[in-house]
Amino acid sequence: MSSAPYPWLDASWQRLLSTRSRPAQALLLAGPRGVGKGALALAWAQALLCEEPLADGGACGQCPACHWFDTGGHPDFRLVSLQEKTSKEGETRMATAIEVNQAREVVDFVQLSTYRAGFRVVLVNPADSLNLAAANALLKVLEEPPLNTVFVLVSDQPRRLLPTIRSRCTRLDIGLPLVDQAVHWLAGQGVDDAMNLLALSGGTPLDAQRWADSSDLDERRSVLEGLARPDQLDPVTLGECLKTVSPQAWHNVTYKWLGDLLAVKLHGSVQFNRDFSEVLVQLGKKADLAKLLALARTQANEGRTLAHPLNRSLQLEAWLIQYRHLFD
Ligand SMILES: [Zn+2]
Repeated sequence: MSSAPYPWLDASWQRLLSTRSRPAQALLLAGPRGVGKGALALAWAQALLCEEPLADGGACGQCPACHWFDTGGHPDFRLVSLQEKTSKEGETRMATAIEVNQAREVVDFVQLSTYRAGFRVVLVNPADSLNLAAANALLKVLEEPPLNTVFVLVSDQPRRLLPTIRSRCTRLDIGLPLVDQAVHWLAGQGVDDAMNLLALSGGTPLDAQRWADSSDLDERRSVLEGLARPDQLDPVTLGECLKTVSPQAWHNVTYKWLGDLLAVKLHGSVQFNRDFSEVLVQLGKKADLAKLLALARTQANEGRTLAHPLNRSLQLEAWLIQYRHLFD
């Protein structure tokens, strides 16, 4: 028996395996981030390429095809994803879109005959990052896929896919796991405080695990300890002190903090930062709703420009002044 990459994916995994002899030629794995769609897609690709599959259709992990797959060199497999780009100034960053040249390579790839006798698999992740030209190039082969070719598209935001692409795909929705199941799994991974981290991650276990593994938790604590006491907050000192927090972590933490203040204001409960529930409930009651909405909106917009902080401590200071005014 093969097992799903994560226990909460078991039903989806069994469903996929039951189609192994006649798999969907274009499969769309859709669902929230952090639930393991990418891992499921890879396991499925390997199962299709394996040359000595187990009785249930899962990959054996031992045959030459599995070996090539594990080492990233299976000749009948392509992963299409966001690539790193280097600017003229020598800065390396992640591309924001899957571009047309990548899609054209796939089109060429699927026209060739397969190296081995079995399937050929193209995995596109995140499929919603295909730019328009790339999506259109890919659409042509999705409409008439060559024999034994399987496309697997993975997306957190399937609505952003071209409707024509979506309609070509057999869709498999992956939902959030049950809280008990996720907490149990996290505890098994050695994550302390699984319940709080799961809440902080909006119920997605892989994000919760990432929190636990990173230094972000310490950063989060230092940010939130400042925000928890607005009456004692000195924007200049705190702004200077928090300037080493990465813009992404800062955004993530403060965005959820404001979200919790709004949640308290609107329906009296905390969604993300359960370990700060008491303080959030008090602050939420005091906060001015109009100012809170305005700050949350600015914060949402700031998410788009994270990569370009100008004067970081000044920026933080301005934010903290605005934050303090919520409680005037
Ligand atoms: Zn195998």
